[in-house]
Amino acid sequence: MASLAEAPTRFTHTANPAPRSAEARAAVLANPGFGNAFTDHMVTIDWTEDHGWHGAAVVPYGPIMLDPAASVLHYAQEIFEGLKAYRHPDGSMALFRPDANAARLNASAQRLAMPQLPPELFIAAVEELVAADRAWFPEVEGGSIYLRPFMIATEAFLGVRPAKSYKFIVIASPAGNYFKSGAPAVSLWVSDYTRAAPGGTGAAKCGGNYAASLVPTKEAFARGHDQVLFLDAAEHKWVEELGGMNLFFVFADGTLLTPPLTGTILPGVTRDSLIKLARDEGLTVREDRYSLDQWRADAASGNLFEVFACGTAAVVTPVGTVADRDGEFTIGSGGPGQLTGKLKARLTAIQRGEAPDPHGWVVRLG
Ligand SMILES: *Cc1c(COP(=O)(O)O)cnc(C)c1O
Repeated sequence: MASLAEAPTRFTHTANPAPRSAEARAAVLANPGFGNAFTDHMVTIDWTEDHGWHGAAVVPYGPIMLDPAASVLHYAQEIFEGLKAYRHPDGSMALFRPDANAARLNASAQRLAMPQLPPELFIAAVEELVAADRAWFPEVEGGSIYLRPFMIATEAFLGVRPAKSYKFIVIASPAGNYFKSGAPAVSLWVSDYTRAAPGGTGAAKCGGNYAASLVPTKEAFARGHDQVLFLDAAEHKWVEELGGMNLFFVFADGTLLTPPLTGTILPGVTRDSLIKLARDEGLTVREDRYSLDQWRADAASGNLFEVFACGTAAVVTPVGTVADRDGEFTIGSGGPGQLTGKLKARLTAIQRGEAPDPHGWVVRLG
């Protein structure tokens, strides 16, 4: 199938005939929140067995037509990514490590029996959309254009096997701070449910993982907590991650720890970046198992100074308290820690073009 190698490099462009007015856009951009509003355009690219990837297009944002038998609607053959476009001080737009998102999409595609998308095509799709809708960048504290690339199985077929046609789409949403209150520290609820089991899809960024996390999340909210924390499936003992963020622990001796990527944890780009930035600072970062019991003991003894969660959407978020059926404990003062703040500042300064980029992570779009 020679056609598979000939992925498209040119995008057709159809301008939105009815874009939002400048006033309507300004109203959104003044208070964007997270994931509420979408820009005027989107990118779509189709895949079929016969033609591979084809029909790359920037088109007006809007509903897509799907056959009701499309397999994504029945067997959840869906994967997604999340990354942000930033505006640098010179006015240019920039992406942060889009190659890492492209690679992870393909790792997820592999696990969900979906076709590989050439990384150049992933990055070109994102760049095309940012170029078309850069006017949607919000000039607010922590502002960005959040990009949501995703792939769905579109074949109309109810038998259970990988579909034979797919659609890759990128949508964009102006974003401010993820947490409404810009909360200084979040409280976690340790769920009785598990997020991912060995051999499952925990390392793939697929909608199905999130569907399974909604009841635990609802439970955490109902108990007055901000986020749900998942332990390992086998022993219900080892800390894994939150519903959509990885975790780091900062100890009294200045070392950091984060749970290892054993297949049940999502390999976050933020996680990887923070490991490297911490090591740049001369800090020791261990990727090691950590139990909830040890966590509770270390918090009580003062051996644990800080805990933070990280991910593209919320960047770096301090964890203040942790609760399970046995009670609640507080980390440090219960507020944001010093190293947490320092690492967050280091990362965001690189992303926003306010500090040198020693690892070559930033892709400038002009
Ligand atoms: C996306 C995601 C993360 C964070 O990944 P980043 O690449 O840092 O945004 C962490 N955990 C889960 C479950 C995720 O889906």
